[in-house]
Amino acid sequence: MTVWLRGDHLVRRRGPLADRPNERVVLVEATSFARKLPYHPHKLTLVFSAMRHFRDELRDAGRTVDYYREETFADALERHFEAHPSDTLVTPAPVTERERDRLTELVETAGGSVEFVDDERFVCSPAQFDEWAGEADGYRHEDFYRFLRRETGYLMDGDRPVGGEWNYDDQNRETPPADWTAPDPPAFEPDALTREVAAWVDETFAGGYDEPPYGGDWADPAPFRWPVTRRQAVRALDDFVANRLAEYGPYQDAMRCDEWAMSHSLLSTSLNLGLLGPREVIKRAIAAYEDDQAPLNSVEGFVRQVLGWREFLRHVYRREMPALAEANQLGAEEDLPPFYWTGETNMACLADVVDGVRTRGYSHHIERLMLLSNFALVYGVDPAQLNRWFHAGYVDAFHWVTTPNVVEMGLFGAGVFATKPYAASANYVDRMSDYCSGCPYYKTKTTGEGACPFNALYWDFLDRNEGQLRSNHRMGLVYGHLDNKDQEEREAIRERAETVRTMATRGDL
Ligand code: SF4
Repeated sequence: MTVWLRGDHLVRRRGPLADRPNERVVLVEATSFARKLPYHPHKLTLVFSAMRHFRDELRDAGRTVDYYREETFADALERHFEAHPSDTLVTPAPVTERERDRLTELVETAGGSVEFVDDERFVCSPAQFDEWAGEADGYRHEDFYRFLRRETGYLMDGDRPVGGEWNYDDQNRETPPADWTAPDPPAFEPDALTREVAAWVDETFAGGYDEPPYGGDWADPAPFRWPVTRRQAVRALDDFVANRLAEYGPYQDAMRCDEWAMSHSLLSTSLNLGLLGPREVIKRAIAAYEDDQAPLNSVEGFVRQVLGWREFLRHVYRREMPALAEANQLGAEEDLPPFYWTGETNMACLADVVDGVRTRGYSHHIERLMLLSNFALVYGVDPAQLNRWFHAGYVDAFHWVTTPNVVEMGLFGAGVFATKPYAASANYVDRMSDYCSGCPYYKTKTTGEGACPFNALYWDFLDRNEGQLRSNHRMGLVYGHLDNKDQEEREAIRERAETVRTMATRGDL
């Protein structure tokens, strides 16, 4: 029997590694898998460096580790079963049944068998979620979150939520004063092993993210900065709890052009690779509240992300794939504008955020939802194309993360849990950010030259999708505003929206 850990399951203290302390361990780098998309070089460096560090730590601790670097998983498994005929591989269960079947077939074809065990990167088991969801054909995050708070006892006072409320969102929509700055998040300087991986990634995956037709001139990438070991991930958690958690809540929806991280935790890469566990992260945040180091609105907002959204999305993905990846209930068929890859746009908000993604493989949650996804939504981008872009470009992205977030939450593709599209005009961007004051477009103008592209696209989106959206009770107010526009104004909006699409396609928006 051998423990097989895939590259995003680097969990040492729990799960199959802890349960089988004397068994051999297998890790596989499959280059073809890393070529499936034009992945950001920092993402590839992160995953491969974390895997190689994990290998070395296990060997230092006396474990036997077979580390295969092959073109495909099948090649690596063939080598393994040649050396260990009829071996059984014990591995964490993949998220979906389809992936489970695919892995089973891969292993059996190579001459062995596979045993799936629980995925220790999550709190809520599939059986627990399925029992909660029952036979319902839709999911409500708020109900799930409350269910899981009760199940775990996190932030609970008996059967009541601590503080009396389940959420404190009304305290979490502030924008910081002009002179506010967030403490810099830690950057983990690449050691010799990470530098070696980065050089190998540049050489092996040249022609991917940073080359036409994707990124074009990928000038001046920021230095690689993400935790690649458990020790570094714990330091990142310590730093967040000590220095940024207290202000996470009030400013979680705010955007600032000179603050790429704001007070966000930046722990998603470590959580999604297994370097940190969700329970320890949640417990640290709650302890900070109990020690008066962070207010309840910040701690609850953070717990909601880790215990609520992250767990919820994983199970929605598990249950709704493969249809979710192709869902497109609004029939949006536009191609993703090239500036998502190149960053070349005059729109101050999107230019800055795309630049951040290109240079460091990251932007924070509200930029993802209310700038990048919102623009694609009102523009009419095919959800699968935006999903592919997020999946390729973000250091913390995996298909189970991006698909429900982008296709459903961002682009209202399926209607399985989103109750309305998150569409907004420049009004929202201006209220929650400082971008508009430095932008050549006029935030208050909807039509004509120089009008902010968000505005015409927003009204055109409502107009185009009226048949599907007007009856949504959460959209009644905005359709009331659309009704106040006469035919001439609506026609001008359509024209401006068309001009915006033409400019975006040409690359001069
Ligand atoms: Fe973005 Fe429009 Fe504001 Fe410019 S005016 S920063 S394009 S929302």
